[in-house]
Amino acid sequence: MVHKNQKNISPEIYLKSQHNIDQNLINKNAKDVINYLKRSGYKAYIVGGGVRDLLLGKKPKDFDIATNATPEQIKKALPRSRIIGRRFKLVHYRKGREIIEVATFRTGGNKKAAKSSKGLVLRDNTYGNIQDDAFRRDFKINALYLDIHSMEIIDYTGGYKDLENRRLSCIGDSKVRFREDPVRIIRAIRFMSAMELDCKDSLKADIYGLANLLEEVPTARRYEEVLKLFFTGSASKTFDKLVEYKVLKYLLPATSRYLEEEKSDEKIIHFIKLALKNSDSRVAKDLPLTPAFLFSVLLWPSVVKRIGEIQSSKIKIPLLRKAADKAIREQNSHCFIPNRVESMIKDIWEFQIKLLKVKSPKITSLISHKRFRASYDFLILREQSGVNLNGCGKWWTDIQNQSEHRREDLTNRQ
Ligand code: ATP
Ligand code: MG
Repeated sequence: MVHKNQKNISPEIYLKSQHNIDQNLINKNAKDVINYLKRSGYKAYIVGGGVRDLLLGKKPKDFDIATNATPEQIKKALPRSRIIGRRFKLVHYRKGREIIEVATFRTGGNKKAAKSSKGLVLRDNTYGNIQDDAFRRDFKINALYLDIHSMEIIDYTGGYKDLENRRLSCIGDSKVRFREDPVRIIRAIRFMSAMELDCKDSLKADIYGLANLLEEVPTARRYEEVLKLFFTGSASKTFDKLVEYKVLKYLLPATSRYLEEEKSDEKIIHFIKLALKNSDSRVAKDLPLTPAFLFSVLLWPSVVKRIGEIQSSKIKIPLLRKAADKAIREQNSHCFIPNRVESMIKDIWEFQIKLLKVKSPKITSLISHKRFRASYDFLILREQSGVNLNGCGKWWTDIQNQSEHRREDLTNRQ
């Protein structure tokens, strides 16, 4: 957000000798992109989460590049690249399975940007210089530019000091910035939990006060943001913060209601927390996470609320399906789960009945089912949170270690 009289501010420059960025953590493809652009005569920097994470000594998840070249010029300068984007044009550079996103410097919050009656920015595609680009970003810690050749960091907003002091601040007035794009509220919570940052009371108050604006955010975008919230390795802390700031209800309404209910079952809440801690340790070990497993956990209260805990194989699958449909339908009006993921979630839930039928002759086919692993993990977590399933989890753990022949033996003898 550029202030009216904001003309050519001198940025703070942090030299290579002042920070201790490990250059080995800089992605080769990101370097190539910058080299291509510079060879064509443009300026190009790493910006955003990449620089932030490098300064924190973490391996960045992705590298965003900002340049003074227009999308068309970027496309010309980079092989294997294409222009994408509706709200604003970006260029994707593809190398192998990796995509590097390259964006032209642009301004934000200016008079030309189309806004809704509530201040929401609808279209925002005006190009600008590096300074404009810094001020249109959401938080100060996200507006640092790294020149990979000199290894200097360019800081227009004070993000470097914020990071040193573990502080999160908006660029400009948080009320205005959250109104322009309420997703910034979710991002604030993500950054605070992932990096253990603190912030001013006024920013906290604005998160509380303006969270209802999240209702204006398209449900597909909310889905993407929820994934980011829970996949960054601090899902457990993030969940607590979403509850604390009363943001959860705009993303996962049934889960939020369940937590607030007087009669809610502690075991279910414990189950969610265990599962999230489990996801965090998977991230720490570089193991993959799936959206289906995450949502099957987060929406479990909504199913249990409808049909009770599944502790007996006598519960009919059609009854569960009906409850699952209702749970997902309600969820989709807040944060839209793609169909492919929805069917996987339902499989995991149905398996909670199927896995209770340990006398089934279909043991081997269940074990080789593509949803077995996730469903088994789900079942184990339920048991660990205190749900009594008559030792079913241990039974499945043991049987997986048996040969097929022995499995048949065991099931016949029951
Ligand atoms: P992550 O580690 O999750 O990638 P990030 O900060 O890099 O975090 P991205 O979504 O990759 O998040 O965005 C890259 C950069 O674009 C951000 O650092 C920020 O500068 C800017 N940005 C992203 N979303 C917004 C937004 N809603 N409003 C303003 N600036 C944004
Ligand atoms: Mg990023």
